[in-house]
Amino acid sequence: MTVLYVHELTVNSGTGDALREISFHLDAGEILGLIGGAKAGKTALCRALVGLLEPPSRISDGKIFFENRDLAALDSTALAEVRNRGLTVIEEASADDLAAARTAAPRILAVASEVPAESLQQLMRLRDDAGTAIILAAREGRTIVPACDAIAVLCGGRLVERAPRDTWLTASRHPYSQALQADPAPDGAAAITGCPYRGPCPRVGAGCETADMRLQLVEPDHSTACVRWRDF
Ligand code: SF4
Repeated sequence: MTVLYVHELTVNSGTGDALREISFHLDAGEILGLIGGAKAGKTALCRALVGLLEPPSRISDGKIFFENRDLAALDSTALAEVRNRGLTVIEEASADDLAAARTAAPRILAVASEVPAESLQQLMRLRDDAGTAIILAAREGRTIVPACDAIAVLCGGRLVERAPRDTWLTASRHPYSQALQADPAPDGAAAITGCPYRGPCPRVGAGCETADMRLQLVEPDHSTACVRWRDF
């Protein structure tokens, strides 16, 4: 059962878009790894889910459906109720905060900072015992990927690939995902138009500068924003 549905979410930071047209869903009991380098938009996305963006950042477009309500349209009082009732975001993954989340057993837990390896078992037990859906943010994912069911990759405020974990590890169709599995992984950059990864991308070519960055379906459950994915 889908517990969170995000549709074309755009967050403006006051000087530009920190996130643009982000769409994904989260099922009950699913652990989603949210991977991306510096300024990819991981923290902005976690904050946007529960109305904790700091002004001038704001949701400028899109929808966030949780329990049949669009969180992007709620006021701060209603969002506080949502946070109390079942959608928890932890910005710094301290042992105390993770233990409190385990006790509260929310329907969704998003952890916006790197989770220590020793805490992953605790979170997997929370998923197993309470069916909590969990989002784990990480810069390159080495620690969290084994615990994840699916991976979503952010680059320059764009969602550039989403796939089941094993598909992502063995059959990724985005050069940034492939770089994240190498060492060291380069960052992308914010791009007003076109692909935000075209600076470091070894596959860059015709069309990347003006590419439509909406996700394209590679196969069921696997989508990528790379316009040249059929070439490799
Ligand atoms: S769209 Fe172009 S620049 Fe972006 S990842 Fe694909 S090949 Fe590289």
